Amino acid sequence: MKSYTLKEPINIDGIGLHTGIKTKITLNPAPQYSGIFFKRTDKSVIIPAKWDYVISTKFSTNIASNGVEVKTVEHLLSALAGLHINNCEILIDNIEVPILDGSSNIFVESILKKGIKEQDSEQKILEIIKPVKFSCDYGYAELTPNPSEAEGLNINLESRFDGKYEDQDIKITNLNGNYIEYISRARTFGFYQEIEYLKSQNLIKGGSLDNAIVIKDKKPLNKDGLRYDNELMRHKVLDVVGDLYLSGYPIIGTYKGFKTGHFITNNLLKELFKSKENFKIHKIN
Ligand SMILES: [Zn+2]
Repeated sequence: MKSYTLKEPINIDGIGLHTGIKTKITLNPAPQYSGIFFKRTDKSVIIPAKWDYVISTKFSTNIASNGVEVKTVEHLLSALAGLHINNCEILIDNIEVPILDGSSNIFVESILKKGIKEQDSEQKILEIIKPVKFSCDYGYAELTPNPSEAEGLNINLESRFDGKYEDQDIKITNLNGNYIEYISRARTFGFYQEIEYLKSQNLIKGGSLDNAIVIKDKKPLNKDGLRYDNELMRHKVLDVVGDLYLSGYPIIGTYKGFKTGHFITNNLLKELFKSKENFKIHKIN
C-alpha cells in the first residue's frame, strides 16, 4: 500500500465536547515518513499522535508533550485511519479537537472533498504475530493474528450497558472498505443519568443533542433518533479504530473486546509494544 497525505489544507472549526472551547484546526499535507502529528499553534509544541504520548483516557483520548495537551484526538485519528492517510500535520489553536456532529463523518467528507494524494513511498503496516491481551476489573481487549481467511483489521466487540441500554455485540470483518459507510457516521453517546456526574467532573461542557446521542430509558432523546439500529456499537468501533491508530500503523489482525474503551485500548497497545515478538512491521502490496 502506498503512503497517502492530503491534496491541500483543510480548515475545520467547532467546539470541544469536554471543554466547550471553540477551536480551529487545519489539516495540512505532510511529506512522506512524517507520520501523523499535532502542532499546538498557540504554544508552538508538536505532539506526535502516538500511544506513548497518551496522558489520560477518561471519556476521551488525550495526548501531550512537554505539558502541552491535545484532548479528544480519537475521532479525527479514526477518520485518518479509515482513509489510509499516514502523513498529516494537524494544526490546532487550542486544547481540544472539535466534536462536530459527534462522529468522524465531517472529517471524512471534508478530506474526500479536497482529495487524497498518493505519495511515492510504500506505507508500512503492523501485523499481529502473537496474541496480546489487556484485562481490567470490568472488561478486556485482545489483538490476535488473523485467521488464514481474514484480511486487514477485524473488530469483534461485546458490550454490557448494565440495564441502561440493550446489550449488543458487533462484528466488523475487514474494516478496509467498510469504514466510510458503516462506521464514520456513528455518533458518540452518553446516558442521561450520568450527565450530572460528567458535569461534576468538569466534562461534557460542549455536549448537546447536536453532537451526541443521549440515551434515557433505553431510548435516544435525539429527535431524529439513531442513524443505525446499532449506532452505539458502531461508534465503539470508530473509537477503537482511532485509538489503535495511535500505534502509528494500520493494523492487520483481529481486535476482540468486552466493554472496551479508550483506557483498555491504550493499555492493549502498551502490552503490544512490550515485545517485538508480538508483531511484524512490513510493507504490503
Ligand atoms: Zn468516541
